[in-house]
Amino acid sequence: MTDTIWMRFKDQIAVITGGAQGLGEAFARRFASEGARVVIIDLQYEKCEQLAAKLSRTYGVETLAISANVADHDGMQQAVSDICHAFGRVDIWVNNAGIYRGTPLEQLNMDEWNLMLEVNYTGVFVCTKAVAPVMKQQHYGRIINMSSIAGRTGFKNSAAYCSNKAAVIGLTRATAMDLAPFGVTVNAVCPGSILTDMLRQVDAEICRNEGWPVGTHIARKAEQIPMGRLGTPEEVASVVAFLASAEASYVTGQSIEVDGGEIVV
Ligand code: NAD
Repeated sequence: MTDTIWMRFKDQIAVITGGAQGLGEAFARRFASEGARVVIIDLQYEKCEQLAAKLSRTYGVETLAISANVADHDGMQQAVSDICHAFGRVDIWVNNAGIYRGTPLEQLNMDEWNLMLEVNYTGVFVCTKAVAPVMKQQHYGRIINMSSIAGRTGFKNSAAYCSNKAAVIGLTRATAMDLAPFGVTVNAVCPGSILTDMLRQVDAEICRNEGWPVGTHIARKAEQIPMGRLGTPEEVASVVAFLASAEASYVTGQSIEVDGGEIVV
């Protein structure tokens, strides 16, 4: 990996949902390292606040931590209003918050189905709807939605997650059409297997269902990926940063895999 040498987001406002850890944390760090003022929204407020303070100290940028549920319509309207009050605009919004449950089809009850739908899909709609008027008025904005290769293919015991992530790709295309005339781009990123708490949870659930020792799924997965390894959050952050940058000015409605070739096999 080469060091980041750009300051592509100097003084821009970048908002990351689910930014307290994992991929979202890497996105927040990348934007802050390139000069953006960063807003982190997450259910885990303490973690969110600690990260925001650390990014301010390390990169000398203003940050804001907000405790909110992405699926809460009124709460997200309030969050956007608070961000505009603090910073006056929103340039970049990354819909990253997500959850995974690996439940066999017959055991997937309506409570779990609805929770997954709410966070992984409705949350993207709720946040996009809240920030769209601000970006339209600015005649500028970049929205990046975290889908997954799970939305492109099928995984065992993942009916809710795979369909949520496929729906995010549809929502990305549709909202890209709505917002294109206003200088706002909307794209999706589809990561493959990236080592975060979520992937460790996927591993734990698959290993439990299959009766394997913990870690077996991750090890097998790494062997199957053409590049022979899992991805890092920073490798996904590079693509998110590209889509958020001026270089991606004519890219909208797209879904880009970042998966070491996993989906090709
Ligand atoms: P993670 O579990 O490490 O982090 C998810 C974050 O989202 C957590 O901080 C959590 O508190 C927050 N969150 C959960 N529900 C929320 C809600 N309702 N409102 C606000 N915040 C909420 O997961 P990750 O691996 O960093 O994944 C981030 C995104 O990338 C997710 O959308 C995930 O589906 C997607 N993704 C991850 C992988 C992977 O291999 N890790 C692969 C493909 C896609």
